[in-house]
Amino acid sequence: MTPVSYLRADGAVDAIRLSALHGHRLLGGGTNLVDLMRKGVERPAVLVDVSGLSALIEEAADGSLVIGAAARNAAVAAHPLVRARYPMLARAILGGASAQIRNMATVGGNLLQRTRCLYFADAAGSRCNKREPGSGCDARGGFTRYHAILGASPACIATHPSDMAVALAALDARLHLANAAGVRTVALLDFHQLPGDRPDIETILAPGEMIVAIELPPSDVAARSTYRKVRDRASYAFALVSVAAGLALDGDRIVDVRIALGGVAAKPWRALRAEAALRGGPATAEAFARAAAAEFADAEPLPGNAFKVPLAMRTLAAVLTELSGERA
Ligand code: SF4
Repeated sequence: MTPVSYLRADGAVDAIRLSALHGHRLLGGGTNLVDLMRKGVERPAVLVDVSGLSALIEEAADGSLVIGAAARNAAVAAHPLVRARYPMLARAILGGASAQIRNMATVGGNLLQRTRCLYFADAAGSRCNKREPGSGCDARGGFTRYHAILGASPACIATHPSDMAVALAALDARLHLANAAGVRTVALLDFHQLPGDRPDIETILAPGEMIVAIELPPSDVAARSTYRKVRDRASYAFALVSVAAGLALDGDRIVDVRIALGGVAAKPWRALRAEAALRGGPATAEAFARAAAAEFADAEPLPGNAFKVPLAMRTLAAVLTELSGERA
């Protein structure tokens, strides 16, 4: 057994101080980190419990919603302002994991959870460039049903497991990151990194830096938005593909649109090509199908997950059809 020290941070300043400790890991709800410690994937010397960071969900003067990093997923999904203004976010959170996990997991931890690639979790038996840079990738040529079809690299084909992050990507969320040097704000879209040749580097977090809040700006598309997740069983399963989308319509014309995809890449995938194809055009089934085809034109599926390309295209078109007023 590997000995681990446990320290509870008393607020953000204390958490930043403790995050200077060598070999530390931040502990939120522990719903992913503790699993990985059991499997020997994570071996922290010190656990810094940051569940005492702000868990407040507050409206800012400009109408943004600011969510403390320690807010529990369940609390965010149930919050009246989230449900009224950002329904896709509430639906995404409710689509993720079990009620027990949603009650424990924090939103900061949700964004930092690790891939559920089976080979990543198999510390004793599989090669993994994310776990051990340069060691190889046993997923290639292996079981790839849940792996990436967009943005992967020769080094890694893993996907990001979060549902919540997909909705946040579509909502242009911003993250407040803090360390001893101060606080900076970054777009969620810039936070997670595609694997390239360093799949072990998953985010832009600097040493000693942590997420302290998530900011949701006011949105013209969020009120008419939803999240649809396609998975192998009805609950407690990760997405094969998922779609977070919001539409602003003027009659049958699309004034604005936001789309992000889950289960397809190492980060929440903002569907910028599809958005550009749709913006200003008609809200028709043909336009939705063309936009979906544009988004996946450069998809690089593997033999084990080629089904995801048509599945994602159909799901995206169906979600847009639903939001435009027709059921799909
Ligand atoms: Fe590791 Fe990525 Fe390969 Fe999975 S796909 S084994 S996470 S390198």
